This record gives sequence, structure tokens and C-alpha cells, in this order.
Amino acid sequence: MVESVSKTVDTDVLVVGSEGGGAEAAIHASKYPVKVTLVTKGRMGKCGATMTAGADFTVDGKSAFEMGFKTDPKDSPEKLMVDIVKEGAYLNNQKLVEVYVRDAPSRIKELVGWGMKVIFAYGRVVLTFGPEVVKALKVGLKECNVEMIEDTMVTDLLTKNGKVVGAVGLSLRTGDLIVFRSKATVLATGGWQMVYPYTAATEELTGDGQAMAYRAGAGLVDAEMVQGIPGLPVWPPAWRFASFLPILSGFAGGYITNSKREHFLSRDFPKLRTKTDPECLATIPTKVPLIYISILTEISEGRGGPHGGVYFSLPNLEKLEEQGKRIIDLLFPNWTFHKADFSKLMERLKEGPIEVVIGANYMCGGIRINENCETNLPGLYAAGECAGGLWGANRFGSALTQVVVQGAVAGKSAAEYALKTHLLGINQGQVKSLQNKLFQILKREDGVKPVELRKRIQKLAYDSVFFIREGTKLREALQKAKEMKDRELAKLYATTKNPICNREWIHAVEAENMLQMLEITAKSALTRTESRILHYRSDYPVTDNNNWLKNVVIRQVAGEMHVTTHALTVSFLTPPKGILPYKEATLPIMESELVH
Ligand SMILES: Cc1cc2nc3c(=O)[nH]c(=O)nc-3n(C[C@H](O)[C@H](O)[C@H](O)COP(=O)(O)OP(=O)(O)OC[C@H]3O[C@@H](n4cnc5c(N)ncnc54)[C@H](O)[C@@H]3O)c2cc1C
Repeated sequence: MVESVSKTVDTDVLVVGSEGGGAEAAIHASKYPVKVTLVTKGRMGKCGATMTAGADFTVDGKSAFEMGFKTDPKDSPEKLMVDIVKEGAYLNNQKLVEVYVRDAPSRIKELVGWGMKVIFAYGRVVLTFGPEVVKALKVGLKECNVEMIEDTMVTDLLTKNGKVVGAVGLSLRTGDLIVFRSKATVLATGGWQMVYPYTAATEELTGDGQAMAYRAGAGLVDAEMVQGIPGLPVWPPAWRFASFLPILSGFAGGYITNSKREHFLSRDFPKLRTKTDPECLATIPTKVPLIYISILTEISEGRGGPHGGVYFSLPNLEKLEEQGKRIIDLLFPNWTFHKADFSKLMERLKEGPIEVVIGANYMCGGIRINENCETNLPGLYAAGECAGGLWGANRFGSALTQVVVQGAVAGKSAAEYALKTHLLGINQGQVKSLQNKLFQILKREDGVKPVELRKRIQKLAYDSVFFIREGTKLREALQKAKEMKDRELAKLYATTKNPICNREWIHAVEAENMLQMLEITAKSALTRTESRILHYRSDYPVTDNNNWLKNVVIRQVAGEMHVTTHALTVSFLTPPKGILPYKEATLPIMESELVH
């Protein structure tokens, strides 16, 4: 019989997640006289999306110029704010946009001060590498007093009288249950990319933060807005899901063809073509949902490859323009990326096309916050990709700027709140019931294997809640998700009973969060009966500014999913009226990405 052991950690500010958002939150909270504890499921610098990023920081050209970069001083913070909201098709919380643009220069300067190397700056982009960001954050963390607890999965928030008073976690190293008692808690746990079968994101990103916030009663906003990444290798398997290729093709372009060798993307998007070759794409933009729809249509109509993708090749490397060449030399020296060697993949590409898919890359929706990163629950804050509302219906700027800006704001807000409050007692009944739920997975001798349930969740997400959505399929997905919840969650079991370093156990706990996020994404997508940038409904193929300029918010109330729509937060740009066909509404918004 497995016995659960528990220990208690008391802290003022508990930060969950150690990368861009979490590390910044911890650093900025620790500027106040409070105890800060940073907990992470992996090890800092080896988990989450931050270290995998390309990585670009967005900042307006004028501020970048004033920082010493050769950018356009005629650009302005106000112009950047307007562009972000237009590209987000007006669903953005404009107060979050203001904070993003206002604080970007300070956060970038801070990272540079901690040693982050900038490899190149152009337009509104300050380019570096994800590991450089994490390296700098580690320097920042060393300068302050933060308790770091790694290899620990926070599984649920503890609440008392509607306030968040702590959390429980499982130590992956010892199998112990840890009870955190905190005055304020910041969630910076990244996205829920693992709900989808194709992604370059790391395995920790199972939507834990959003799912536990939802269970505690926090609102989730615009969860239907999922961003993809085309050009993710699926075959040959040696390079499966290597983000190197989509990042490279974002600068170098290439050919995308179907099984009939037709160049359907250059046909559908003539503006993407190189000047010299009408079939070759100058760039394969990552954030353009119209491209996802073209690719998925080829696949669903039977013109895809045997592994569920389309074909990619790179015949044009020699003919790249000066700037493209320069960026590629700097980002991928000798075809390495983050010190990993991709020269064999480049050799393989010379032999002919490889099969690529669209991956789930970034979640625009998430925990609903205000400009102080406060949620609707006192004591709970969220920052980074875990939080929603900044990007509206499409992410135009850099997520890295978002995570460091919001991390700093959340840390400050949480510390100030902690100074005004005291540790509230926790509800032992709640701890006991969470503990039982977790340890039952080890005690059960038979039932549902986590790996099987996760595969079925991912298949359902891909089949019904990916980039081409339709009411009947969304309703079916919700029904199937409910069945999985009712019939399978309580039967999950780990074949290995040892609680120490038991990945299967953790996979089982994550499966509940993945299923929860699948359900929330499907419900939001079903609710929004229009198409808007990242959210395409084949049964509602219009962008409806008369009825749908509002956010979809999902909360758990008395154990039930509660959906509401909320008026937009508008502070500087009034949205337009009118109803337009989806493609007509989307193409002009995409223009800057298509021809950058
Ligand atoms: C392949 C790839 C390339 C990208 N490239 C770029 C780019 O070039 N530019 C850009 O701007 N954006 C890019 N993005 C997006 C960007 O990297 C992320 O949005 C951003 O890094 C998220 O930062 P974060 O701090 O919010 O979360 P993450 O960096 O994802 O970190 C999440 C943290 O939460 C922890 N965690 C999760 N669950 C738990 C739990 N239950 N308990 C405890 N800890 C938990 C994880 O261990 C991790 O520490 C890219 C994303 C991917 C996947």
C-alpha cells in the first residue's frame, strides 16, 4: 500500500512556473520585504517554452532607437499599440496592450543588464535566443532572495472564503505531497499545447495553471484563440517536431506542396511568392491562420502525405535576400540552433521534400487578468502565456515581451497584496480530498492507462477543435470530453507504484488538466458563432463586428461550466462596426505578416 507523506511550506508570495513569466514575477516580488517561493515542474532553463524560443522581443522602433538600436525613430509606442489591437481584430484588452508597450523597453534593458546578448535588431524586433533569456533571468534571480523548489508539480490551488490561500504540489523527486500556504499566488505555467498531438512545445505545457485556476473559480478568457506553427516536421521521425524548421522557414521560405506536387500556398497567397520564382514562398509566416486553413483543407481532401502532413522543401537558400541571409547566419550558425546540430536535416532536405504538419504553438487565451495581473479571485495573479486577453484574436507581437512585462507586474502586485494580508488557515478537508485523489492513481491496480487517455484527448482536439471548426463537431467533442471525464478520470492508474520519479503518475494528473482545457477550448469555440482570425467556424464564415466584439469568459460555478460574454476593455482604439466574409476581414489584417 502506498502511503502519502506531506510537508508544509509557508511563504508570502508563491510563484508557480520558473521561466520568462515566473522568474520575472519572483524577481520583482522579491524587491519587497516578503518571502518568495518559486516552484516549477521541471528545472529552470530546461522546461517550458521560453528556452525554446527563436527569440524575438517586440518593442516600438522609437524606444528601440533610444536604446541604441538602428531602428526607425519615427515609429512610436502609440502606433505599436494600435497595430497590436488591429491585428488582434479588436478583442484585445487594451489596458493590457498599454502595459505591454509601456514596459517593454525597461524589461529588455533589464535583461541586457543581466547579460542577455542581442544578436540583431530591426523594425520592432530585438532578436536573441531563448537560452540567453533564461541565462539572464538566472543572473537576475541570483541577485535576490528567492527560494526555488524544482521538479514539483503544483496540482491545485487551495481556497478559503473565495480567496486563494495556497496550493498543493507533488514532488517528482520524492513523491511527497507539499502543502504551500501563501498570502499571494502567481501562476506562470505557460500554455496547454500538449492538448494537441503536434507541437514543438515542451511536455510540461499541459494547461495545469489554467485548469487549476478554473477549478478554483477564476475566469478564462477567449480560450478558442489557439495559434499554430506550420512547417513542423513529422516525417522522417529523426526531426519530428523540431522547431528549427518552422523558425528557419519563417525567414527562408521554401516550397510547400501537396501529394500532387501542387504549390497550393503560392497559388492561394500570391503575395508570399519570391520575386524570382512564382512557386517558391519568400517566407512561411507562422501566425497566419489562413495558411493553416489552406494546409488543413489539402490534407482533409486527401492531398496530404501518408503521415498526415504536406511536403516542404528548401530549394532557394542560395538566392535569399541580404537581410534574410544575415538573420539566418546569426540565428543558425553552421545550421545549429540552441547548440543543436541540424546540418543533417539540411543535407536531407537537399534530397527532396520532407513531410510537415501544423503544430499548436501559442495560446492567446488564458486566465483573465486586469492590467495589474489580478484575477477575479483575491490572492491569485497570472502572468505570461498562462494569462489571456492581451492578444485578442491573434498574437501580433512577441510573447517573450509579454511574459517578462506581465511577470514583473504580477510579482509587484502579489508582493504588495501579501504585505497587506496575513496567512489564512487552510481547509484541511480540501487538502485531504486532493491528496486522496492524487494517491488513488497509485493505489488502483487496474483501469485506464494515462498514455491511452492522453492520446485520445489529443486525437479529439486535432479532429474537432483545431483550426477548422464546426458546430456539430464541437458539440460532439464536448460530449466525448464529458464521457471521458465521467467514465475515465476516476479510473486512471499508474502501473508503477513507486511514487519517486514516477512520470506515469504525473502524466495521469496532467491528463485531467488536458481534458479540462480541451473542454474549455471547445466550449469557447462553440460559443463564438462567428469567425475571427485564429478562430475559423466553417458554419459561420463571417467576422461579425456587430454582434461579436466581445470576450468569451468561462468559469466554474457550483461545479458547472458557466459561459458569459463580456464587453471589451477599450481605452484607446474604438472597434469598427460591420460584418465581413472571414477571408476578406482576415487578409488585410494579415498583410504585414504576409509581406514582412
Ligand atoms: C517552439 C516555440 C518557439 C517559440 N518562439 C518564440 C519566439 O521566437 N518569440 C516569442 O516571442 N515567442 C515564442 N514562443 C512563445 C514563447 O516562447 C512562450 O509564449 C513564452 O516563452 C511563455 O513563457 P512563460 O513564462 O509564460 O511560460 P513557459 O516558458 O512555458 O514556462 C512555464 C513554466 O511553468 C512550469 N509549470 C507548468 N505547469 C506547472 C505546474 N503544474 N507546477 C509547477 N510548474 C509548472 C514549467 O515547468 C515552466 O517552468 C515560442 C514557443 C514555442 C513552443
